[in-house]
Amino acid sequence: MAYKISDDCISCGACAAECPVGAISEGDGKYVIDADACVDCGACAAACPVEAPQAE
Ligand code: SF4
Ligand code: SF4
Repeated sequence: MAYKISDDCISCGACAAECPVGAISEGDGKYVIDADACVDCGACAAACPVEAPQAE
């Protein structure tokens, strides 16, 4: 299990600043989560203004 960022992402960077394991980086048009690094804590979803990170 890991979180995944949807196309609703507006690339604000708030999630990356909150991720405890540095699993989030800026991708092409949106931020992306490294599924192998994500520990499913939900901090990114809590920080996101548009609810783009979703639990898979
Ligand atoms: Fe990082 Fe937690 Fe979001 Fe996974 S769920 S990407 S560990 S903030
Ligand atoms: Fe995208 Fe939400 Fe992360 Fe901002 S907090 S970069 S809108 S996923």
